[in-house]
Amino acid sequence: MIPYGRQQVDAADIAAVEKVLKSDWLTTGPVITEFEMALADYVGAKYAITFSSATAALHAACVVAGLGPGDLVHTSPLTFIASANCARYVGATPALIDIDPSTFNIDTDQITENIQAVIPVHYAGLPVELGAIPARPRVIIEDASHALGARSTTERVGATTHSDMCVFSFHPVKPITTGEGGAVTTNNADYAQALKEFRSHGIKANTDPLSWEYNATTLGYNYRLTDIQAALGLSQLRKLDRFIAERNAIAERYREKLSELPLELPPAAPAGALHGYHLFAIRVPQRREVFAELRKRGIGVQVHYVPVHHHGVSADIEIPLGGYPHADSVYNGLISIPTFPGLTESEQDIVIATLTDVLELHG
Ligand SMILES: *Cc1c(COP(=O)(O)O)cnc(C)c1O
Repeated sequence: MIPYGRQQVDAADIAAVEKVLKSDWLTTGPVITEFEMALADYVGAKYAITFSSATAALHAACVVAGLGPGDLVHTSPLTFIASANCARYVGATPALIDIDPSTFNIDTDQITENIQAVIPVHYAGLPVELGAIPARPRVIIEDASHALGARSTTERVGATTHSDMCVFSFHPVKPITTGEGGAVTTNNADYAQALKEFRSHGIKANTDPLSWEYNATTLGYNYRLTDIQAALGLSQLRKLDRFIAERNAIAERYREKLSELPLELPPAAPAGALHGYHLFAIRVPQRREVFAELRKRGIGVQVHYVPVHHHGVSADIEIPLGGYPHADSVYNGLISIPTFPGLTESEQDIVIATLTDVLELHG
């Protein structure tokens, strides 16, 4: 099976992890700090705070932004359920807005005035143009789980020039991996401090080595990343630009070789932006049949995503009459085909040939 996404872990990654395993610190040691500084530096933000997952990071971001019961949070219907669930974790309510079919990202013109927060998702790695949002809401938390290494027309994703915080995921299929893991980047020192405390039981650090006292001043969790994971992340980060270049080369090759087939290619990045191509999500007719046939023939396709409002947990969402027509119509044909650094040309040729064959049957 050729999967839709896969990590690339090399000897340097393994050596970096091994070094930590032989050291004094397995968790919350010097490599966490090193990884956070390198990540902040890479995206061009003042602070990066790592977490055990992007889901934990989204939860933390919602807490430190002060979101709570009664608050409405805009996000996309076409995203992983975690983008909406983080609002629920703090007692707030997701309020979806439809996507723009030309980007598959939220239609920023639909942001309601006076909304408490927006969680824009850079779907597939194509950055939302946050600099173009007409009226800036109180809080913007970017869900950039797909988009580390990508750039909008105005900034590197994570620089948070137009947002409060930006969340990344280091799950194996994402742009770089730590096994499980995530991070928040921000330019706000108060948020950075609060995020650090939240991920570690709400404890204010005591820097006096001669004193045992510590104070858990707010409710926190154990949402920490380990040094073992941070070593992998730091080593992966060094290869990120190459990974993104490879993903773009694969995408360009798909665009060229699939252009004659009865399918729709995904939205491309505008001039001056850089797509992350976490996903290459095409739209096909007879998706159910095409999907099953591709799986049968060894192509590990996936669908990103079953829309947020289709899930049982979304019974709390007020769905407008007519639903979210653009999200639903895009979802109806959607299939992610294999795209990851390390996918060989001959593997890609197998994907293209199989897809061509299957679409002849079901096109
Ligand atoms: C993967 C993903 C998440 C969750 O990331 P984890 O690190 O697995 O918790 C959240 N939002 C989006 C859009 C994702 O793709």
